[in-house]
Amino acid sequence: MNFRLAQVIVDVPSRETDRPFDYSIPKSMQGWIEVGSRVGVPFGHRTVQGFVVSLKKDSEMDSARIKPIAELLDLVPPLPPDLVELAEWMSRKYACSMISSLQAMIPAALKGKAERYISVAEQEKESYGDSADSLFVMQPLLTGEEEEIVTYVKASGSVTLDHLNTRFPGQAGITKGLISQGVLSEVQLIKDKVRKKMVKTVAATVSGNEAEAALSSFTAQARRQKEVLQFLLEVGIPLSLQEVLSSLRVTAGTVKKLEEKGYAVIEEVEVFRDPYQNRRFKGTEPLQRTPEQDVVYSRISAALDDRTFGTFLLHGVTGSGKTEVYLQTIERCISSERQAIVLVPEISLTPQMVERFKGRFGSKVALLHSRLSHGERYDEWRKIREGKVQVAIGARSAIFAPFRNLGLIVMDEEHETSYKQEETPKYHARDVAVHRARQHGAVVILGSATPSLESYYAARSQADDKFAPVLLEMKQRPSGSHLPAVHIVDMREELRDGNRSMFSRALHAGIASRLERGEQTVLFLNRRGYSTFVMCRTCGYVAGCPECDISLTYHQKSNNLRCHYCGYATPAPSVCPECGSEHIRYFGTGTQRVEGELAKLFPGIRVVRMDVDTTSEKGAHEKLLKAFREKKGDVLLGTQMVAKGLDFPDVTLVGVIAADTALNLPDFRAAEKTFQLLTQVAGRAGRHQLPGEVFIQTYMPEHYSVVHASGHDYDSFVREELKYRKGLHYPPYSKLILVTLSHEKLPLLLRMAENFAGDIRLKAQRLGWYGNLDRFSSEALDIMGPVASPIPRIKNRYRFQCMVKYRGSMDVVGLVREIALTTHHNLRDSSLQISIDVDPQMLM
Ligand code: ADP
Ligand code: ZN
Ligand code: ZN
Repeated sequence: MNFRLAQVIVDVPSRETDRPFDYSIPKSMQGWIEVGSRVGVPFGHRTVQGFVVSLKKDSEMDSARIKPIAELLDLVPPLPPDLVELAEWMSRKYACSMISSLQAMIPAALKGKAERYISVAEQEKESYGDSADSLFVMQPLLTGEEEEIVTYVKASGSVTLDHLNTRFPGQAGITKGLISQGVLSEVQLIKDKVRKKMVKTVAATVSGNEAEAALSSFTAQARRQKEVLQFLLEVGIPLSLQEVLSSLRVTAGTVKKLEEKGYAVIEEVEVFRDPYQNRRFKGTEPLQRTPEQDVVYSRISAALDDRTFGTFLLHGVTGSGKTEVYLQTIERCISSERQAIVLVPEISLTPQMVERFKGRFGSKVALLHSRLSHGERYDEWRKIREGKVQVAIGARSAIFAPFRNLGLIVMDEEHETSYKQEETPKYHARDVAVHRARQHGAVVILGSATPSLESYYAARSQADDKFAPVLLEMKQRPSGSHLPAVHIVDMREELRDGNRSMFSRALHAGIASRLERGEQTVLFLNRRGYSTFVMCRTCGYVAGCPECDISLTYHQKSNNLRCHYCGYATPAPSVCPECGSEHIRYFGTGTQRVEGELAKLFPGIRVVRMDVDTTSEKGAHEKLLKAFREKKGDVLLGTQMVAKGLDFPDVTLVGVIAADTALNLPDFRAAEKTFQLLTQVAGRAGRHQLPGEVFIQTYMPEHYSVVHASGHDYDSFVREELKYRKGLHYPPYSKLILVTLSHEKLPLLLRMAENFAGDIRLKAQRLGWYGNLDRFSSEALDIMGPVASPIPRIKNRYRFQCMVKYRGSMDVVGLVREIALTTHHNLRDSSLQISIDVDPQMLM
């Protein structure tokens, strides 16, 4: 069928343009334009990038005003149709624009922007003839400055406007004049941020007798050419030109001559940038499964073989061999010609993790993580789209890997909050994974030692939810090692006994004995809730951001104070700006303080510190871990980074400096997050032959999250936590939508926020949804607020929030979105911002 009309979502971020626009398909592009194609289209006076979301037949064309598509940007559409469908689903589910969903799915390299290219207008070119000299003869009307520009453009063929402006500074007006006179013409083309990497190769074009004849034909002067041809014939495959030049020490001219004689061909071929090019990974074979692993493997394999959608929640204690299960099920998936996606939290995409997947699947694996350059990431992504790999492993956004025939999606550490994107589109990769798997009839494995309450509750209750996962459990470690003994240390008691150090006596003794025995220690500091602000001990002054209601963070390296919300920075004061006191204290990043104290208590101790400061450089993370593995460190000290996925045989002690820093945060998941973190950290100790020991220092030793984490008792923790959630109607007993409104004017904002909440209430009442969640009914909706947000002002904009809490399967997202649109429409003040966060993870 011939489609003549394409519906295009344009890259113009505004509410008004969040719908498909019609464009006609020029003859030359027919057959090439598909759903998912990326195109350049005229929009207003500009050319913008867009995505084709559907095609229509000729007959549906309603007017001649429809403009044609200007440019087709890729021959193979970057998005397969199922991802376009997924973007539509995401926009509905998360109340975000289509363009933001589509943009989230492609690598940054393809977020092209229009560039203006300038060339000499066609008719002008003809009248000037070929020689630039004739310009001066034929065009007496041009001034000297104009001539200079036109001559330059003509000589270059076509240049970007930016380039021209740099070359002729201050003469933009003249260029503009030349364009409006029609001497120069302008085209807009979408330019990608990154290009395919090309290399020149050279190969012989002759063989056998022909080659013999060629070789004997060279004169003495052409000795070098002969050498090159001989070399090419010996190797027999195309070689990179660079390589030939450097190994034979010849010039490009020599090879060029050979080409002119017809004995060789120089070609540009595209190469993939490979971030792991120079790394060798030791191959591994599947391990003999333990009985527990075997049960799990069989269940998942059966589902894979069925080729129907299914979800499994794999609850396995740390070190129970979940990763081995992932590896073996992936093997099964790809042996049936289907592909697999593995999602891991960014922070645990450690070299160790990479090694395990590369070791098993080698070049079948593409890696997507944020430490890659745009170009590297783009190339990994192309390997996926072009079917050159079968497994993609990466953080959150790897869920959009453009595989055509997905069989399996693994989500490791499924409880991690980093799976939720905090910027638009505010999607949760778990829900996206489930939806994508349904599209493909694929299997999802959600793995964790501490499943999120949402997943666990869904699996346990198998309620009305047809996507409820099947629960699979693994309670033993294949190594036979036991979970480490965990001791809770009451820091209040330490203080009472006169110990003011950040190390309890027990932890101190523990570290000392590890030093003696040559074993290793991991020290963990919870960064959440651990502020690094500056405070005056005389008057209590705390340095805050002038634009945002939040305290500034101290950065030791640059000795300044920075706002993490708006980027404001100021030198750190040495006296208090309020009272002039010199007793102004800097709390450096928590880890630095711990490091300092360790050095004091244990002279000569070797500490490997891992935090945002020491791992900002590329490869730093890897180097630090390698140093620790090679036992160049006695202590590995760090934040969240040391809690996940690390596996060192000689670590026999884990210390948690302060377990409860995050417990007092205004977040209903505070206890859950603390429990998860403590369990993770404790799992780092004694994973091999040597038994492990863990000390958790806390000021709240009775808190159930601390108590149950120390007992490795997930079930008891969940039981208490669910009781609490049920009482307050928090997830998993309800769904939440957080709406944040912001504006520079406080009174106006407050009124708008109140109207907004009122409108929701009214509409919900009319629909029969509104009602207290305490009442016994399967459908209920309540809206709380507006109240000032926990950070009440950011970048000089005041913030208020409302929380919609509901139960039932009504389209509440649709309702909230509708009211947000009407609010905007009625106010006609585009500076009011309304942000909608469905299933929020961050309540700050
Ligand atoms: P998890 O992902 O659950 O934390 P891992 O997959 O990292 O657990 O396994 C923990 C350790 O047990 C690893 O060193 C791994 O090589 C080993 N292991 C896993 N499965 C087996 C098995 N079937 N036989 C022997 N060792 C195993
Ligand atoms: Zn002061
Ligand atoms: Zn600020």
